[in-house]
Amino acid sequence: MIYLNGEFMPIEKAVIPVLDRGFIFGDGVYEVIPVYSRLPFRLGEHLERLQASLDSIRLGNPHEANTWQELITRLVGLNEPEDQSLYLQVTRGVARRDHAFPANTAPTVFIMSSPLLPPTAEQISDGVGAITASDNRWARCNVKSTSLLPNVLLRQLAVDAGCAETLLVRDGQLTEGSASNAFVVSNGIILAPPKSNLMLPGITYDLVLELAAANNVAYEVRNIAETELARADEIWITSSSREILPVTTLNGQPVSNGRPGPVFKRMHGLYQEYKAQVMRSAPV
Ligand code: PMP
Repeated sequence: MIYLNGEFMPIEKAVIPVLDRGFIFGDGVYEVIPVYSRLPFRLGEHLERLQASLDSIRLGNPHEANTWQELITRLVGLNEPEDQSLYLQVTRGVARRDHAFPANTAPTVFIMSSPLLPPTAEQISDGVGAITASDNRWARCNVKSTSLLPNVLLRQLAVDAGCAETLLVRDGQLTEGSASNAFVVSNGIILAPPKSNLMLPGITYDLVLELAAANNVAYEVRNIAETELARADEIWITSSSREILPVTTLNGQPVSNGRPGPVFKRMHGLYQEYKAQVMRSAPV
């Protein structure tokens, strides 16, 4: 079951007019929210980021936070899996094709649920491969825009190379992955690229730094030079669906000894503990 513009329906029944600006221009924003045991994870943070994305593209938020929450709760209830991945999209609606904003057009609101596919045990125990590529996206990567063609092309480079992710480098600095944030561990310290217009402010990125701070795991938010990647002790990618994954080969070379490192194992444990605690403390 999905939600589209005020109605819940089976996905097969959901239809968007061809003049939707999401289809024509990629003129919209989105969120992906993991749901564990029927509880949306960090929902408040996702809705805040949605608001920031909408503000960035000058599109009014069609719903108050409590309405979003109600729609999401109903949709989660209408779908079977205990663990779901919610995809939520708002576009500037349906209008005659013209680049300029249409006047008085209702936004299109779409929410769908898919089964959540967490990382496999093997990805966690062995890590994944990544490649690097030049970050040729636009200069507003902090907006979670549905215009994802650059990300699509960059991710495909990883798939073509038999890898899980493409790490992006702009002006000699690591920005993020094609669909994830990236961290490096150097001399036992977690390094995180500072938030800017050149990366998406990840919900998982924030949680990793929050957990590091709360558990006295050393971290530093600073620019990471591409040259630091080759000699990193550890490299991680994070996202709501992939959680935290160790990158154990980069451009075909092992990262350090080619095995997930001790700081990853600690952070992965803290993350799983945090998730379990959130689920335990939630009202039934
Ligand atoms: N950067 C990009 C480009 C992404 O697509 C994603 C995944 N949505 C992330 C970072 C990670 O963000 P989050 O932790 O909020 O999923």
